[in-house]
Amino acid sequence: MGSSEVKQPGDWEGEITRQLVAHLREVFWMTDPEKTEMIYISPGYQEIWGRSCEDLYRSPRSWIDAIHPDDMERVVEAALTKQVGGEYDEEYRIIRPDGSIRWIRGRAFPVRNESGVVYRIAGISEDITKRKEMEAALRESEARFSGIISIAADAIIMVNEAQRIVLFNKGAEQVFGYQASEVIGQPLDLLLPLRAIETHGEYLRAFGASSETARFMGSRVCKISGRRKDGTEFPAEASIAKWSRNGETLYTAVLRDITERERAEEAIQHLAYFDPLTGLPNRTRFHEIAQRAILAGQYEGKPVAVLVMDLDRFKEINDTLGHHRGDFVLQQVGLRLKKALRPTDAIARLGGDEFGVVLPIAAPEDAFVVAQKLLKVMESPFDIEGLPINIEPSIGIAVYPDHGESADSLLQRADVAMYVSKRGGRGYTLYAPDLDRHSPRRLALLGELRRGIESGQLFLHYQPKVDLVLKRVVGVEALVRWQHPELGRVPPDRFIGPAEQTGLIGPLTQLVLKEALTQCQAWIQGGKRIPVAVNLSVRNLQDPRFPDQVAEMLQAFSVPPEFLEMEITESGIMADAETAMRTITRLSEMGISLAIDDFGIGYSSLSYLQRLRVDSIKIDRSFVMNMRVSEGDRTIVRATIDLAHNLGLKVVAEGVEDQETLEKLTSLGCDAAQGYHTCRPISAEEFARWASDSPWTPAWD
Ligand code: C2E
Ligand code: CA
Ligand code: CA
Repeated sequence: MGSSEVKQPGDWEGEITRQLVAHLREVFWMTDPEKTEMIYISPGYQEIWGRSCEDLYRSPRSWIDAIHPDDMERVVEAALTKQVGGEYDEEYRIIRPDGSIRWIRGRAFPVRNESGVVYRIAGISEDITKRKEMEAALRESEARFSGIISIAADAIIMVNEAQRIVLFNKGAEQVFGYQASEVIGQPLDLLLPLRAIETHGEYLRAFGASSETARFMGSRVCKISGRRKDGTEFPAEASIAKWSRNGETLYTAVLRDITERERAEEAIQHLAYFDPLTGLPNRTRFHEIAQRAILAGQYEGKPVAVLVMDLDRFKEINDTLGHHRGDFVLQQVGLRLKKALRPTDAIARLGGDEFGVVLPIAAPEDAFVVAQKLLKVMESPFDIEGLPINIEPSIGIAVYPDHGESADSLLQRADVAMYVSKRGGRGYTLYAPDLDRHSPRRLALLGELRRGIESGQLFLHYQPKVDLVLKRVVGVEALVRWQHPELGRVPPDRFIGPAEQTGLIGPLTQLVLKEALTQCQAWIQGGKRIPVAVNLSVRNLQDPRFPDQVAEMLQAFSVPPEFLEMEITESGIMADAETAMRTITRLSEMGISLAIDDFGIGYSSLSYLQRLRVDSIKIDRSFVMNMRVSEGDRTIVRATIDLAHNLGLKVVAEGVEDQETLEKLTSLGCDAAQGYHTCRPISAEEFARWASDSPWTPAWD
């Protein structure tokens, strides 16, 4: 029987229909009302069912054999009962001869003659497999999506175009204190006070206003304030997106309460200005205070004195009694000095054993009176656990406007005068231009350093860094050492600063890099694949040739860049942020990892760090060393770890001196640690021995 044979009066409509249906993807068929005879089946049947049309002509019910067993009963029942009435509309699966499954939608209706008697059943079947697959995928993704929404810790809120809340997840319940049932259908400004919407303009309009004014906001983040059920408001960060579903426009906000983070940022901001040990303003803050005093002096036509005080032989106290007692002395000194001054005078700890004072004065002689007073309060010995300790300070004085017009120049000149006091064993000295020529000790030291660099008095020690999760040694920090033929070991804190101020840091860094790369290469060859971290200074970051020099050295020593790390301080970056940024980006692009050193005592601009291509931060040892005893320091360390992790940065704690601190850091999620507890800085030979004896698995095992 020919498949194209339509048993219909041979009019032209029949011909057109035949041509059309032969080319449509749908299958058309026609039977007698009893379905004992297949009158027509279009060729699409063959394509979709994978069976021949002849079979169907021969046995009109054979299409049923292809139906998936799970759907068979339903479809047969419907075909029997619904086709004559015209309500037949079924979706079902068929199994093709090759075993593949297709989804079919079948519809059928009666065809009546002029007297209204049903004499044919006509039907259409179409392949809806694609649509079914898409629906399934959509269902799955929606299931996954709503799963994510319900478990997300972040608050997720959805509103419709009328700004009514349509979704409120568990996270939102926690953040706002409402149950979902209490807020669904309520206006959005129940949660986000309208005031906030106005002040945050565009972003917020997207999350509430009509679709005309709303723009698609993508995942842009804005800061808004939310209101809890109890009426309290809190700062929040939200990313808002506009989207539509089934023609309806919806706005979704993912919202996070950032109260804690803001508090932590404030705490860190505070650190940027205060010395954690003595609670006195730090150098940065001192600078600002001095600058302001100068402005006031200028305005009132009055001089201002800047005093710098250094404690003689403090280093010895630290070395012989331990730095805990050293710290205690510094705190006592801070207290005494503060007490000796008037409330309008400002005192700061400039770093190490150096203090600074700013005084509004009427005449330079007034500064002498204050200097004498300060010397006087330092005369009586400090009681260190029953031991009387004498501390003699040296003071240098510089006066605005005679000796300088900026905080910088006054500080520097007071410093020169202070060295003169120290050398001459005098209590205090007023700056005078000829003091500069009488080489202060600093300059002498620099001459020696230059010679030291040239004649090989400098070398490196290495301090291991351990991963607290993997319990492995993951790197070493190279620390420079200077063995002076007469002075003995000069600590880096004594010569790095002056070297930075004069440019001698350039050759010093070169030396350190060469030495570190030589050692690293030797380790790699000996099977110890361990990265070495080198400390950089401001000057290195500001030298545009520096990255190229580093690249050359890496090549020359054939050390892969991932074996070199660089530590930079925040103040190093801030000094000239643009240039520093460029250098950092270049170094990072070369594959060198970068760490922010001494984190917490600098400017700590977190948003800034976010823009920098750094990999980790090293929490300054002054916080870590006091974690065991100071709740405040623990809080700072915890906040810093959380913040850094939020920014995708690794955290290294330095100055870990005992097991307790190590464990605490581990529990706070700190990534790595460095400190005397694990190992002091040691020579390369000692390091090899240490690595084989220590409980920490070396990186190369
Ligand atoms: P830093 O980069 O913060 O180096 C860590 C300092 O902490 C080292 O002092 C190290 O000996 C000390 N340290 C390590 N663990 C502990 C601990 O558990 N407790 C205590 N109290 N201290 C610990 P070091 O070697 O005296 O270096 C002092 C600073 O000198 C360094 O601080 C760094 O800023 C600078 N420095 C050292 N070597 C270089 C260098 O090659 N280049 C530059 N530019 N600076 C360097
Ligand atoms: Ca360092
Ligand atoms: Ca450090």
